[in-house]
Amino acid sequence: MDDLLNALADKGVRGETPTRDEALAVLRTSDDDLLDVVAAAGKVRRRWFGRRVKLNYLVNLKSGLCPEDCSYCSQRLGSRTGILKYSWLQPDEAAEAAAAGVRGGAKRVCVVASGRGPSDRDVSRVSETIEAIKERNAQVEVCACLGLLADGQAERLRRAGADAYNHNLNTSEATYGDICTTHTYEDRVSTVERARGAGLSPCSGLIAGMGESDEDLVDVVFSLRDLDADSVPVNFLLPFEGTPLADEWNMTPQRALRILAMVRFVCPDVEVRLAAGREVHLRSLQPLALYLANSLFLGDYLTSEGQAGKADLEMIRDAGFVVEDAATTTLPGHRRGQRADDGGGADGPDGVNEADGAGAVSAGSRAGGADAVADRPARPHERVAVRRRGAGTELPPNA
Ligand code: SF4
Repeated sequence: MDDLLNALADKGVRGETPTRDEALAVLRTSDDDLLDVVAAAGKVRRRWFGRRVKLNYLVNLKSGLCPEDCSYCSQRLGSRTGILKYSWLQPDEAAEAAAAGVRGGAKRVCVVASGRGPSDRDVSRVSETIEAIKERNAQVEVCACLGLLADGQAERLRRAGADAYNHNLNTSEATYGDICTTHTYEDRVSTVERARGAGLSPCSGLIAGMGESDEDLVDVVFSLRDLDADSVPVNFLLPFEGTPLADEWNMTPQRALRILAMVRFVCPDVEVRLAAGREVHLRSLQPLALYLANSLFLGDYLTSEGQAGKADLEMIRDAGFVVEDAATTTLPGHRRGQRADDGGGADGPDGVNEADGAGAVSAGSRAGGADAVADRPARPHERVAVRRRGAGTELPPNA
């Protein structure tokens, strides 16, 4: 074990990636070795990102009513999850929500809309929104996450001031058809490539915990490396009631950490982002994940509530990490040089962004899930708190 971890740490520090067998071996380490795995991957994280943590803030521009059938998603066709449903936020409403995130410490705002992909009119709306956000905060990075892109749309978003575009691969090519039938893995790959071709920083990640094998996880992370995503959001499935995966619950905090470590080894110098599901699946081990990921979403997710933004900041401080400021460029210099017209900020939704499907949770109070039900374990979907505040409501956002 020591030989494997030393070899992986040495490769990561040099910016080299492991073999597939080495990546698989990380996922198959025992709980006895967990801290050694975290320490080895932590060396890689420290080499490229120090103790900085980049904060990102989600603004859900349009929620629910999607015609696609992604099985993990609370916004999918036929979803019976009681999420907020609303059409496009006005640019000033979105800019106000974004400003709350920036005040909370976020240096990137991720503007997200449900749907298969934007119409040209939708791209015009989002362009106005991006301009409104940048008018208030010229320094803030904006990542758009609007689904599959048609010809010319990425270029329009770039001209409007978008820095990045998120479109997650979510799972391996071999299993993509098991989680979605209305579009293909290849559709997703080509949208990430379109974004990159337009000079947007590509952001693309995964959702773990959907019943995939270790090989599937390694496959999707190697695909993300091959796509050369600048940022890789790692979501853990939120089993929303009313979705086909409502009873899926196969993640432990230890496994979540091993997955994050594997992603860090395979993508050593890339922004690895803790995304939806961190609170419910990592629970009290969340601070250890900061040794692996260099980025996270502040506050709430698209359709679910995260732990209080203040608790995120306390966790970062208590663990000895620092929030990355606007003047610091996230990615190492050699990666920034690869991106055309990189103003220095863009890295790469939601990754998240499509934290969409994986909506998210609430830590602290809710992440233990249905604590009120003391005499039986919480069912998976009882651990998920649907978002009832922030964008699309009259209540203040969590930032
Ligand atoms: S993940 Fe995106 S495309 Fe799929 S159902 Fe959800 S909102 Fe629609």
